[in-house]
Amino acid sequence: MEAIAIVPGKGSAHLIEVEEPSLKSDNDVKIEVLEVGICGTDREQVSGGRADPPAGASELIIGHEMIGRVVAIGKNVSRVKIGDYALFMVRRPCGHCLPCSNNRSDLCSSGDYTERGIKGIHGYQSQFVVDREEYVIPVPKEISDIGVLAEPMSVVIKAVEESLLLQSARFSNINAHNWLSGKKALVAGLGPVGLLAAFILGLNGARIYGLDILEESSLRASILKEIGGTYINGLEVKTDRIDNRYGEMDFIIEATGISKLEFELIDALGPNGIYVLIGIPAVERLITIAGGELIQQMVLKNQIMFGTVNAGINHYFQAIEALIKIKTNYNKQISKIITKRVNYRSFKEVLEIHSPEEIKAIVEWSN
Ligand code: BGC
Repeated sequence: MEAIAIVPGKGSAHLIEVEEPSLKSDNDVKIEVLEVGICGTDREQVSGGRADPPAGASELIIGHEMIGRVVAIGKNVSRVKIGDYALFMVRRPCGHCLPCSNNRSDLCSSGDYTERGIKGIHGYQSQFVVDREEYVIPVPKEISDIGVLAEPMSVVIKAVEESLLLQSARFSNINAHNWLSGKKALVAGLGPVGLLAAFILGLNGARIYGLDILEESSLRASILKEIGGTYINGLEVKTDRIDNRYGEMDFIIEATGISKLEFELIDALGPNGIYVLIGIPAVERLITIAGGELIQQMVLKNQIMFGTVNAGINHYFQAIEALIKIKTNYNKQISKIITKRVNYRSFKEVLEIHSPEEIKAIVEWSN
């Protein structure tokens, strides 16, 4: 079968021929891949950034956001059946830390976890993939057209869930599951993750604000406005003026991965606010920030800033539920997030080219 691979550190994706995988145990599931989403991590890998091949290999098959159809199952498998739409999670446990042994490899403390298509194991940019049942997530047919968004959505779900858990720990006398209701929530960076976050914040009853540096008429700003959000054009409003103009934010989710902006946005956060970092900056040149002012504000206003990566299995299941709700209420808007689909033979069009109007590009493996 064919697959898309890179030489880690050197990048430059190319098609390779590899052996088709088959079930190795009664607990295995084999999926015929239909679609694989492209994200910033893939583009970073293709340009020579963060990527590790499996031990002993010189190439890595990339791809970690997928959807496909189950074509074979081992005799112990009950979570999916042949013909179902399904996806596999990204991360695999290290086998020796407490979070991993409690089914939370997303919180792996040894750093020895592996990630399909990113760290130590091949990914999903191929015609077929096999893995254990414990990593498979069934995708209902009604959302099969947007099911490829479940992985980035799981990352957003985890970020919001952790924020609500933190607030319930601090405000033990209030129902923190409603904490976002009526609150001002700012999403920085209206790429796929940022826009998915905007949908989730909307489902949580928040007043949504979205920051990017595109025209008011751009597709990203339009999707945000269509779901009730207020667009902030970062080319017109300086970061330290956001609070003066729109009021202080109770919640900020950062998905640009631009470290200077990530720090400067602390200024827009209000009392008891939560600031979540999801964007992963490249290691860059040194930056200058008003450190004292920002830290003083964080202390005096009881603010929390934390980073989060990857997601646990329950976040994937919640992501599927959220996509069903979003499809029911905002089918037109969620569909607009997928701006391009190309056949796998034309993968260079989406891995090497990234137009400003592109949001989520998809590689299709079905012919
Ligand atoms: C993926 C995560 C992964 C992270 C770090 C992201 O692009 O969505 O699942 O954990 O990269 O490698």
